[in-house]
Amino acid sequence: MSRIQFDHPIASYQLVQNKLAWMLREITKAQLLAYHLGLKKDDSTWFAEQISLAKMNNVDMALEIARMARDIHGANGILDEYCIMRHMANLESVKTYEGTHDIHNLIIGKYITGIQAFTRKLD
Ligand SMILES: Cc1cc2nc3c(=O)[nH]c(=O)nc-3n(C[C@H](O)[C@H](O)[C@H](O)COP(=O)(O)OP(=O)(O)OC[C@H]3O[C@@H](n4cnc5c(N)ncnc54)[C@H](O)[C@@H]3O)c2cc1C
Repeated sequence: MSRIQFDHPIASYQLVQNKLAWMLREITKAQLLAYHLGLKKDDSTWFAEQISLAKMNNVDMALEIARMARDIHGANGILDEYCIMRHMANLESVKTYEGTHDIHNLIIGKYITGIQAFTRKLD
């Protein structure tokens, strides 16, 4: 709202609002996924592969949303003055410490096929 370009706040442009709407849509879906999984955990109907699916989706979305928020800030988005790059860097570490996508995908691949692909014999 405070950044004025071409005489108007950038928030007033349709392309920027499209980004904001997409971010809210994905945040809402990610929250619903986490809430649904929480309910399943409460009544003990969850299984481990669902955790992998949810973590991968929500970390991906958080990163993509942080990148888009950085984009909306323009060059200011890369400065220390705004926290968005710091948030993006934090999310890169979340993507590792919540389990890497490689390992989550191996867990889901085993669930789908019944074949574990975590290890292989070297000749
Ligand atoms: C900030 C931070 C906080 C952390 N906090 C905790 C914590 O509180 N508790 C905890 O237990 N751990 C914690 N960790 C550790 C984290 O869980 C591990 O770093 C993570 O699981 C990845 O393991 P690694 O670093 O040993 O990577 P590696 O196992 O060395 O993997 C390196 C790369 O190879 C890929 N890879 C590994 N094996 C395979 C395979 N079989 N097939 C295909 N690709 C493979 C990985 O996906 C990754 O991309 C933390 C890490 C960070 C960065």
